[in-house]
Amino acid sequence: MSQALYRKWRPARFKDVIGQDHITHTLQNSVAADRIGHAYLLCGPRGTGKTTTARLLAKAVNCTGEDVSQRPCDDCPTCHAINDGRFLDLIEIDAASNTGVDDMRNLRDKVNFAPSEGRFKVYIIDEVHMLSIAAFNALLKTLEEPPAHVKFVLATTEEHKVPITIKSRCQQFNFRLLTTLEIKGRLQWLAEKEGLSVEPAALDLIAEQGAGSLRDAESLMDQLITSPDDPITLERTQMVLGTATETAVSTVVEAWINRNSGEGLRIIHESLISGADARQFARQMVTYLRELLLLKAAGNEVPLAGTPERRQEMLAQVGRSSTSSLIKAVKAFSEAAMTAASSWQPQLPLELAFIGLMDDQPATISTPAPQPITALPPLPVKPTAVKPTAVKPEPQTKTEISPPPTKPVETAAKHTAVAKSTPAAEPIPLALSAVQKKWREMVAQVGERNKNLPALLHMGKIIGLENNVIIIGFDYPIFKEKFDKTANALPLINQSYSALFNTKCTVRAVITSEYAVPIEEADVRQLAQELGGVVSIKE
Ligand SMILES: [Zn+2]
Repeated sequence: MSQALYRKWRPARFKDVIGQDHITHTLQNSVAADRIGHAYLLCGPRGTGKTTTARLLAKAVNCTGEDVSQRPCDDCPTCHAINDGRFLDLIEIDAASNTGVDDMRNLRDKVNFAPSEGRFKVYIIDEVHMLSIAAFNALLKTLEEPPAHVKFVLATTEEHKVPITIKSRCQQFNFRLLTTLEIKGRLQWLAEKEGLSVEPAALDLIAEQGAGSLRDAESLMDQLITSPDDPITLERTQMVLGTATETAVSTVVEAWINRNSGEGLRIIHESLISGADARQFARQMVTYLRELLLLKAAGNEVPLAGTPERRQEMLAQVGRSSTSSLIKAVKAFSEAAMTAASSWQPQLPLELAFIGLMDDQPATISTPAPQPITALPPLPVKPTAVKPTAVKPEPQTKTEISPPPTKPVETAAKHTAVAKSTPAAEPIPLALSAVQKKWREMVAQVGERNKNLPALLHMGKIIGLENNVIIIGFDYPIFKEKFDKTANALPLINQSYSALFNTKCTVRAVITSEYAVPIEEADVRQLAQELGGVVSIKE
């Protein structure tokens, strides 16, 4: 593959240009009627066919094909010369690298010479918005009084930067972004011409990635060709693009619709671990949700890429989501897709977008009735291996290394008697390590009562213990806020921990960086690690 696909298969005639019929028809008619303007301004996003159209116009005005209505014929000597890049009267200027006034003065001087081989000298000035003010002024003079043998075609991706004085002297055409289906059709055609085998799902993905730019999509397909005999598979495409699988994206959407944040976050994490790019994932979410939104708004008539099975799945999801929630979701993930990828936690914007959408949820989770503390598990009674010699020598007045309290054992013995009454008046001192060990169990318990809590708790961890107040630290304020706003979070966790330890304990959420670990506790924690035993602080 020596030549880039998009160059090799550049449209040779107006009818080959994809998706810009409103422009090509007009130009074709002007050529047929010999009513060609002296200056054109082609505006529009990159990769939508502006330069291609400019060249076709240059070809058409100089074409010597007999049927005027079919120019450019792509068959006469002039058409061949332009195709081969050896037509002297076609002058292409890249304004991005010729921005100066001298370049434009030079142009102005040469404009007056008659064409050397064709009917018209055609100047194509690409990225014309890059010209300096002085250069624009020099160009303006030429545009005001152009010699009859000169045509100008200016192209720009940033129309608003082109001075009004220039615009007013040009016929303006606005190119539009291509649809995924249009791009897919073109890619399919290219694959046939090149004798390539491309999996339909890979074709869909490449077309989507073009995001309206045919050139981008074609360049991407170029990259994926290793050899003509090697089929372009979905798997390889996903690998090269760093995209998540379509299933992952639809499963995350499904989890969002089902209000199952744990499942959604799990899929996101797994996808990123297996190589998907977080921003790319967010973009895929936007593409998918946008399609859902279109289906919601316009029903089954919307032309979408993808298999019939996929469409069925999407229609089912559409039936279970509201327009307003889809709009919110599209906005949330667009924002995530645009957030700087260089952040040290690249997955964060994606997670925030997903978790943020859970605010939307209908009140499906009723506040649980207070549960009696039952099934009291005994404290993890670990025979203390605390040896006095292992204890740090400096006296810690407030700290005491104690063997596990004997009380829980008593309580467990009196289980039937105490179970349904309030916990013992005097709380049993807890150990930080014990609380940390029970974390997973607690998360699982509260998850049964509030499906969204585990995902949120996943963002935090136990960072301290102050007199049986368990401190949960969140690295990001947003997660702490979310925790604080979740009405039943604290009661559920308090209840779970109290049951697990058979003593009254409460929970407090903090932002990790703002939490100062009390000095004694820090020492004890370190000591606990060294000893591997149960250590507690007494009042
Ligand atoms: Zn021709």
